[in-house]
Amino acid sequence: MKQNIGSKKELLGDYGLVLGIEIHLHVKTQMKMFCGCSNTDLFDAEPNTRVCPVCLGMPGALPVPNKEAVEKTQLLGLALSCEINKHSYFDRKHYFYPDLPKGFQISQYKEPLCKGGIVRLQSGNGILLERIHLEEDTAKSFHEGEETFLDFNKSGVPLIEMVTKPMIYSVGDALEFGREIQEIVRHLGVGDANMEKGQFRVEPNISLRSPLEEKEQKIPEYKVEVKNINSFKFMEKAILSEIKRQKEILDAGKIPIQENRGYDEAKGKTVPQRSKEEAHDYRYFPEPDIPPMKFTSSYIEDLKKELPKLPGEIKKRLISKYDLGQHEADVLYNEELIELFEETGNLIQDYKKVANLLVNRPEHRDKTPEELLSYIAKEKSRIDDSEALQPIIDTVIEENKRIADQVRDGKEEAIEFLIGQVMKKTRGKAAPKTVRELLSEKLTA
Ligand code: ZN
Ligand code: MN
Repeated sequence: MKQNIGSKKELLGDYGLVLGIEIHLHVKTQMKMFCGCSNTDLFDAEPNTRVCPVCLGMPGALPVPNKEAVEKTQLLGLALSCEINKHSYFDRKHYFYPDLPKGFQISQYKEPLCKGGIVRLQSGNGILLERIHLEEDTAKSFHEGEETFLDFNKSGVPLIEMVTKPMIYSVGDALEFGREIQEIVRHLGVGDANMEKGQFRVEPNISLRSPLEEKEQKIPEYKVEVKNINSFKFMEKAILSEIKRQKEILDAGKIPIQENRGYDEAKGKTVPQRSKEEAHDYRYFPEPDIPPMKFTSSYIEDLKKELPKLPGEIKKRLISKYDLGQHEADVLYNEELIELFEETGNLIQDYKKVANLLVNRPEHRDKTPEELLSYIAKEKSRIDDSEALQPIIDTVIEENKRIADQVRDGKEEAIEFLIGQVMKKTRGKAAPKTVRELLSEKLTA
């Protein structure tokens, strides 16, 4: 499982890259995690209009867990081959920050909903997961000059956290891992995973190790975590800039400080973060207001039945059954398109043609198989070779000498009329683009 450094050799020198990834993602539910506040279209809502005593963190307000969020977390766990924990409970994770007025976040510590799990990458590398757990998101703070503003709409939104083992060894694998999770989350309907809206946030932890440490498969003694990245492009840039920074420190014989950093797009590099959790002791303890959750084997079996085929499997089938390329499969795998593709392909027994059309011409994607079929048939009977069109064009010019002269004199719009005449004579079967080319060749040469 040697990483593919390739052109990155220049960047890494003799060091090996070691990455772990933490992902936080919003679960798509009707209501928030522990209250009845609406969790739909939060992004467009006026600040502080989706709030109640529970998600504002008022003393004495009682949280009630959201079953839909629990099930969706477990569904994602099943999709990633996790073990579904039969005894799970929520913990309080204590820290103080203005966007968390309770002074603690309801999260999971000792007994997460899902344990283990694996994501297979195209290279064959399997990335192991530590766990998947469920928690609540915090409020959002805005800083303007000296002032800080808080919007609690996002406070209490169900949030899935997943963590990989530090076993990703290239930037490419890190990106593929992130995109794969995003695709699965969307496919399952677990979340919209829109990164710009903060619904899917990645936090790579990055370290470098010496060739010797690499040989011994040693986990480096430090790691730098880059927090809250909201695009894959930034994740890539953040990792690359960290490699450069850490390499310089190591080359000078020092060891980088273990810390949290943020990616600053304007500077194009990571910067140290005002640490809200320095030398942290979260004083976790079981959330006393929520009873532990118990799940039976039959509950888990029923949930398994709800699990649809995953994108990876569907794509594999498309590629082997219809001889498609990876890119075509990447576009066609989702539910609506695959149906249209297969039904139309069955009708005309030419899957390649249908795949090409749907991949390259998105405007056809909302057609019915019958509409697509007649479009393809029309395309087929199209007269598109100049030899067949030439005599018709000559006749039209002959019959419309005055208009043809206008085109010759530079009145370009007049050509439209001649094209129209050719179309009429061929009962709409001529390819207009070719007709135009032939006509202007003839009249403006
Ligand atoms: Zn609420
Ligand atoms: Mn978290």
